Amino acid sequence: MDEIPFLKPLIVPKEAFQDYMEQIDNSRIYSNNGPLNQRLEKQIMEQYFSNDGDAVTVNNATTGLMLAIAHTKRQGKYAIMPSFTFPATPLSALWCGLEPYYIDINPDTWCMDEERLKEALEKLGDKAAVVVPYAAFGVPMRLDFYEVLLQRQIPVVIDAASSFGSTEEIQFGQGFRGAVVFSFHATKSFGIGEGGLIYSGDSGLIKRLRRASNFGFDSGRESRNFGLNGKISEYTAAIGLATLEVFREKIAIRTQIASWYRDALAKYRLLESGWKSQCSEHKIAYQFYPLLCPSGKTNTYFVQKLEAAGIQVRTYFSPPCHRQELFRHHSHTGLSVTDEVSQRMLSLPVWEDIRREQIQRIVRCLSDG
Ligand SMILES: *Cc1c(COP(=O)(O)O)cnc(C)c1O
Repeated sequence: MDEIPFLKPLIVPKEAFQDYMEQIDNSRIYSNNGPLNQRLEKQIMEQYFSNDGDAVTVNNATTGLMLAIAHTKRQGKYAIMPSFTFPATPLSALWCGLEPYYIDINPDTWCMDEERLKEALEKLGDKAAVVVPYAAFGVPMRLDFYEVLLQRQIPVVIDAASSFGSTEEIQFGQGFRGAVVFSFHATKSFGIGEGGLIYSGDSGLIKRLRRASNFGFDSGRESRNFGLNGKISEYTAAIGLATLEVFREKIAIRTQIASWYRDALAKYRLLESGWKSQCSEHKIAYQFYPLLCPSGKTNTYFVQKLEAAGIQVRTYFSPPCHRQELFRHHSHTGLSVTDEVSQRMLSLPVWEDIRREQIQRIVRCLSDG
């Protein structure tokens, strides 16, 4: 029986960026916002954000979150965020000298519950320095609530690590005047190895972040703002440019795989027996396929069952942040939905050359028992 790994990342092959490599050899420019990086940012802005606002590449999303939080936060103590996220979200707040404050999630979208968030903001008042929503697993969550926060001068930095490629015509985040941070890690849909992007509808903000990602240097090479080295090399930009050329096809494949999951869930009647997918009004650029097992059961049972059948899965995000040693002393709202969802969550395999029969085998394995 063939083994089915959880992920099998597929980055563009070396032939696809060979020409760019030669350009680097000729230009002898290897970093510092060189010609390939400029071209990558320009093409992303044209092809994905209709030139609305601006974007700057960063060497990973965690650096992007740190830069964006540090340069948008107001006076205050807390970075308000879900506990149901990857540890990079609370870690980046800690690096900015803020304390995470965890909010429960909505049971359908698995993003922060806006009612709980509203109550917390009222309670915390000006102790809230920044709000950091996470667009769970790439879901194109609605941003109107967060637009209102921005209008009230409450900074918002969106962890959109797995959202590049999500939604139909308009890329998720377009026009949003807070910071939107994407990851280009090998395991994400736009995978290039290590890399990321900060987008904002506010070009002035990106200008400040661009400076901050280069030691805060002004034109006289003096550090003017609180910076670090967040730049990508020209080699990374080359892989990014080659990836852009095939990205629509990559997303179409991932969308197809998700539809195979939906078909198999229907075929084996899993939704009728209490299994649950994520609710989304728009297309998601699936990094993996998240699915909740029926309430009253726990994911560990199914993980063992799948592994025994040669199928490798994960349980993102279990344990959620507030149950991890480093984060457990932080303040939070009630987190009953977070606890329930993380106990029921299975992250199922998605990779670009997975076959339909393999998806059926995975879902069939969940259905009997
Ligand atoms: C992948 C991920 C990150 C980290 O991205 P890097 O580019 O690896 O730093 C942050 N937040 C979430 C929610 C992620 O899924």
